[in-house]
Amino acid sequence: MRFETLAIHGSRTRDTLYGAVMTPIYQTSTFAFRGVNQPGPFDYSRSGNPTRKALEEALAALEGGTEGFAFATGMAAETCVLELLRSGDHVIVHDDLYGGTWRLLAEVTARHGVAVDFVNLRDLDALRAALRPATRLLWTETPTNPLMNLLDLRAVADVARARDIITVCDNTFLSPCFQRPLEMGIDIVLHSTTKYINGHSDVVGGAAVVRRRDLAERLKFLQNALGLCPGPQDCFLVLRGIKTLPLRMAAHNANALELARRLEAHPRVERVLHPGLESHPQHALALRQMTGFGGTFSFRVRGGQEEAFRLLSAVKLITLAESLGGVESLIEHPWTMTHLSMPEAAREKAGITRNLIRLSSGIEHIEDLWKDLEQALAAV
Ligand SMILES: *Cc1c(COP(=O)(O)O)cnc(C)c1O
Repeated sequence: MRFETLAIHGSRTRDTLYGAVMTPIYQTSTFAFRGVNQPGPFDYSRSGNPTRKALEEALAALEGGTEGFAFATGMAAETCVLELLRSGDHVIVHDDLYGGTWRLLAEVTARHGVAVDFVNLRDLDALRAALRPATRLLWTETPTNPLMNLLDLRAVADVARARDIITVCDNTFLSPCFQRPLEMGIDIVLHSTTKYINGHSDVVGGAAVVRRRDLAERLKFLQNALGLCPGPQDCFLVLRGIKTLPLRMAAHNANALELARRLEAHPRVERVLHPGLESHPQHALALRQMTGFGGTFSFRVRGGQEEAFRLLSAVKLITLAESLGGVESLIEHPWTMTHLSMPEAAREKAGITRNLIRLSSGIEHIEDLWKDLEQALAAV
């Protein structure tokens, strides 16, 4: 089945009792045994729940994986994957990524006896130089949040596979609609389903998808042992979101690219960071590795924080809020909002400047969005 069909029919779970076309919400913590020592397919909802199973099947189908795992949040999915490590292991992490991931690795994982190295993985020589015998995991995110830098996933996966290192890719920004990391040799794909996969800004959730049997078994064990699972109601909502993922992504993509082009031509804008623009230094890689550019990008206004704040105070239709990937457009200031959890020096080193603004383009009409941005830019 093609992607659009999988978005509707990716889950194999069917309601055999009444033939409900939509997956029922099994709002139950426990399941009756069929007899002494005879559990049914489910026994307790932390270990498994039919609504969650339907979501996990859909996630696996969309990413081209064999097993999917749903989590209470994107950070819960990351926590589960990091529990694959033990004290003494070494992790290499791309140095430009979601602030919460940075915080989890630097301030939690690194305190448990795991050595964490933040490396610019766009530089394959730097990656090779960072490898150690104890390197167990390589963590990537592409495009990166909020700078929209790309990593060559095939190249990075090749370096890691030669040394038996597990590779992880946070695919939140593009969703499986536009990028399929497992097909490029990555071992574990991660998502904050809070963003595009659910797409309606009404759930926080996470996901991990794999093809490798050994990783599937370990993640299944950890998901249950750590208790990181989402409730059935949230699983239902994410499943419903998935059905329109291809339609939404096409609309996000078209709006973001058009806004990026218009912003690039605007005198009050210093630079636009969008992999679909010819001016993006990795535009060729974007065309090779992705089938769309997504709906989120960033730009630098001319000036500093004051000018950025003026623009952010002036938007009317577009909401000043963290998060991204919902049907409504959101705008934010990474320096003081989403990336505040990164130390100032790390933000500066990465290029998260005070005049940087991140825009998550929703699926409203392009002219209404542009009108709002244009009047906000006039206020700068
Ligand atoms: C939001 C986000 C996360 C964290 O997900 P939550 O659902 O907020 O826990 C991880 N990675 C990226 C790229 C994100 O945008």
